Amino acid sequence: MKIPNCPAGHGEMTLRRLNKNTIFRDVEVAYQTEAFACRECGLEVADVDQAGATQRAISDAYRKAKGLLTSEEIKSGRKRMGFTQKDLADLLSVGIASIKRWETGIIQSPSMDHILRLTLNKHIGGSFDDFLDKEGILQEIEAASIKRVLSFQIEQEMKNKGLSKAAMAKKMNTSRTSLDRLLNPENDSVTLKTMTKAASVLGKRLRVEFS
Ligand SMILES: [Zn+2]
Repeated sequence: MKIPNCPAGHGEMTLRRLNKNTIFRDVEVAYQTEAFACRECGLEVADVDQAGATQRAISDAYRKAKGLLTSEEIKSGRKRMGFTQKDLADLLSVGIASIKRWETGIIQSPSMDHILRLTLNKHIGGSFDDFLDKEGILQEIEAASIKRVLSFQIEQEMKNKGLSKAAMAKKMNTSRTSLDRLLNPENDSVTLKTMTKAASVLGKRLRVEFS
């Protein structure tokens, strides 16, 4: 990191950690940032990396204030689920660029945040649920998101175990059509029995819970 000189001729500036407040999208947010400051006149200067980090800190503070997942929560949640950025993009039917942007500070919409939480298996809270409930679309979105993750995980496990679709169907004692339905992320009419069978063939247990 190259330390700049104060443009007012006060010599070398110092690296400082700063606590700041700002208004972002009508919300007052507090964040921490790093910049070079002049000891004499107090002028602050940020390099490109520092400016990027500041932008991220502001969007994360805003996301916290609004109850949205932060960049780090999205990234660590994705890793915990074993998803690459491409996997998550496919699961959400968005471009990989969107995932990259959310993980580096661009703010996801509340509806996308909700689907992200479902996909990353994060606790869902608060007001957006109520909104969707009123609209009557929450259950539909939840079922679709859960099914997508499930199909993805079954397919991953089949790959890990080197099981072809034909072999999997045979082990499950079911038809290829019914397995295809299970593996099709867009199809959410799958019975609990089929899911349990698939899990058992893969040496896993299906856990269903209310929360
Ligand atoms: Zn100065």
